[in-house]
Order: sequence, then C-alpha cells, then structure tokens
Amino acid sequence: MKITVIGTGYVGLVSGVCFSELGNEVICVDHIEAKIEMLNRGEVPIYEPGLQTLIANNRERGRLRFSTDLGASVKHAEVIIIAVGTPSLPNGQANLSFIEQAASEIGQAMNGYKIIVTKSTVPVGTNERIRDIIAQHSKEPFDIASVPEFLREGTAVSDTMNPDRIIIGTDSEVVRERLTELHRSLTSNIIVTDIRSAEMIKYASNAFLATKISFINEIANICEKVGADVTKVAYGMGFDQRIGASFLKAGIGYGGSCFPKDTQALIQIAGQMDYDFKLLKSVVEVNREQRFNVIRKLESLMGHLAGKTIGIWGLAFKPETDDVRDSPAFEIIAALTEMGAKVKAYDPIAAENFRRNCDVDSLIYCDTAREAAWQADALCVLTEWKEFQHIPLSEIESWLKSPYLIDGRNIYKEEQLANTQLVYYSVGRPGMN
Ligand code: NAD
Repeated sequence: MKITVIGTGYVGLVSGVCFSELGNEVICVDHIEAKIEMLNRGEVPIYEPGLQTLIANNRERGRLRFSTDLGASVKHAEVIIIAVGTPSLPNGQANLSFIEQAASEIGQAMNGYKIIVTKSTVPVGTNERIRDIIAQHSKEPFDIASVPEFLREGTAVSDTMNPDRIIIGTDSEVVRERLTELHRSLTSNIIVTDIRSAEMIKYASNAFLATKISFINEIANICEKVGADVTKVAYGMGFDQRIGASFLKAGIGYGGSCFPKDTQALIQIAGQMDYDFKLLKSVVEVNREQRFNVIRKLESLMGHLAGKTIGIWGLAFKPETDDVRDSPAFEIIAALTEMGAKVKAYDPIAAENFRRNCDVDSLIYCDTAREAAWQADALCVLTEWKEFQHIPLSEIESWLKSPYLIDGRNIYKEEQLANTQLVYYSVGRPGMN
C-alpha cells in the first residue's frame, strides 16, 4: 500500500518505518525541516531502540522516504495517517490546532479517493471534525478512520510490530477491509468499532493505566505506615487474573507525553458534558503529590536542604527514551533549587532534551553517574535506567559525602544493600529503610 504519515515524531516515525518494514511504500512528512534533513542524512532525531537499523534497511530498499512536502506526499498515497501532536492547552483540553492544520492541508491536496486515518490521541468527535475540514477544501471522495496508537516509548518498535490489539474505528466497509488488510500480519486482535468508541478506547485505556499507577502508589504510602512491602503486595495481587501483574510498580508516579495530558483531557471531555470525573481527578492529584515524596524523605533525613548538594540520577520520564515531556524530574529539581539546594544531574540519554526544556539555570549537568553522585549529600534515583541498577551500592556509598540514597523507582534489592552503611529510602518498602 502507498502510505503517507503526517507528523514524524515518536508515533509517526515509528509507525511509518514499521509499515515500510511490512512492505508498504511510505513517506513520512514533517513541517520541521531540520528533522527531515536529519532523517535524509540517515540520522534519527529520537532515541528509540531498534529504529535506526529499520530506517536504514527500508531506505535502502526504496520503501521509505522523508519529506516536508505535505501536498505531494498526500497525492502519492491511498492511506494518509495523521500522527501530529495533541498537547495540552493550559486548561487541560487537547490542543487540536496541529490536527486541524494537517486536515486542512490534506483537504487542499486531495486528488482522488483516500482513507484518512487518525493515530493521534484526540477527543471524541475530532475525527468527524477532520472529515468536515477536509470536505470544506475538497470534493474528492474519502473516508476517515480512528486507529489510536498504544505504543510505549522505549519499546515502540516491538510494540508496533507486536501490538496487543489494533482498534479500527470506522463507518465504512471499504476502510474496514483495507485497514484490516494493512494490519493483518501484526495481530489477530483487530477490533473494528464505531469512530467515537475508538476515540474513547484510547483515553479510557490511558486513564485506567494511570489509575493503576496512582492506586499502587497510594498502597505503597500506606505500606510505609503499616510496615508492609509494596513489591510483595503487588506481586501477590498480580496473580489474580482480574487484576494482572503489570502496571503495579510503585514509584514517584507517571510522567511522559501521554498519561498526564490524556488524563487531563479526559477530565475536560467529561466536564464539557457536565460529568465530574472524580476518580480520575484524584488519580491526577495522587500522581502530582507522589513525586514530592522524594523531597519529604530528603527533609526527614537532612532537615533543611539549603546549601546541600543533591545528586539526581535520571531525567527522562522513563528508561530507554530521550523524551522528557512531563518528567517528574522537572518539578523535583525546581523544588530542590527553590529550597536552596545545589543539584547535579545525570541521564544516559535525555540530558540534552532536558537542558532545552528546563528553566533551572543553576542545574549542573554531569557526564557520568559517578560525577552526579560525587561528594553529594544525598543521591536520588528518578528513572530506572539499567545502568544505575548495575552500579554496586558500595561504590555509590564511596562516592557520596553522606550515605543517603533515595530510590524513587525501587531499583535496588535488599541483598544489594548488605555490607553498606547506606541510609536507603525507597517507595513502600519500609523494611529496607
Ligand atoms: P511528537 O511531538 O513527537 O511528534 C509530532 C510531530 O508532528 C512533530 O514532529 C511535529 O513537527 C509534527 N507536526 C505537527 N503538525 C504538523 C503538520 N501540520 N504537518 C507536518 N508535521 C506536523 O508527538 P508524538 O509523541 O509522536 O505523539 C503524536 C500523537 O500520538 C499524540 O496525539 C500523542 O498523544 C499520541 N500518542 C503518543 C504516544 C507516545 O508514546 N509518544 C503513544 C501513543 C499515542
């Protein structure tokens, strides 16, 4: 199939590349020239394991191209996939300006029947709005479909090639057939539904996952008070098939480009219909509070933090990505510096992105984990990069000025602590303090 993907970010680039790997002829379009130039030079603008090789292979086979020319790329394709960003507006609603712009540009370039697929996460009713915008600009025939994306950054390529399910929201038999054919080799779980339900499936899924995280974080907070271990509690809960073992890891809460904005957007979607989504509002509040537990623990150990040097390990919102959007590290570092602490930070991949987006001028960026921990009064682990898990705790102890280690992601095990004098705090494991 001839496919054009509009928006060459984490979703658009990975989807486009994977569709080319399946044998389709794909053009990935973006309006940021520098991004397209990089890709045309063989460089990859995002960090995503496995992506670089797939791009190189499929460019070589002539099945994958990159362009800033949206009009020509729309004309080339039978299936147009919209994968532009839908960030939050200040009130929490999804900003649909990129979607609307893409739809109007598609409309202006139409030259025959096309299927317009929206992969971006959009509020219920947006695909119908896309249909209206395209129809305002073109008399050519077309159909629309909502095919929300569920990939996770860090495992985006394997998630795209082996999805749990594909949701196709459509009101057209032709679209059902063509898109089922496009996705058939990826999974047998292809669920065809109406457009509004497809749009809602994405928000409901993300809201549910966010709820699981906030739930286990509250259980962790209670575990700390009653002397239970949340990792054992989660393990025991996870065997119940009605609950499931995934997404029950206590920590400093979720961040990233999806859960924070999608939970806010769903609260707004409900609110516009006069529905007060109380449960989800609490999920968001619990998540925001949870990150500050790191600071409360530091204060309980050291009193005032003014003049103290705090090492930070991890700036990305999760490991194996360079994405720092809504990473808990922003608020934690801002709060520490406001309290007068000196903060030194290290991340294996995401430091450059963090620097571009962080307005704390005094933050010191370190080139190694050792440098961030060196002579610090305390060290806080904010992202569970594998690199940190492999550093012996005795070594960390020898680098620190005071033996305080706050593990915001529960990456260390009890046996690793043996033979150290570290004062160790994690999340919901009071027996290890
Ligand atoms: P992103 O910001 O990484 O990429 C979006 C890209 O679209 C940018 O490169 C931008 O320049 C480009 N763009 C915007 N308007 C354009 C236009 N008119 N023409 C051409 N290019 C344009 O965003 P992302 O993380 O890939 O997310 C895209 C969508 O997918 C969002 O709705 C997001 O919620 C959803 N989603 C993201 C993930 C994820 O893990 N990142 C997972 C599932 C769903």
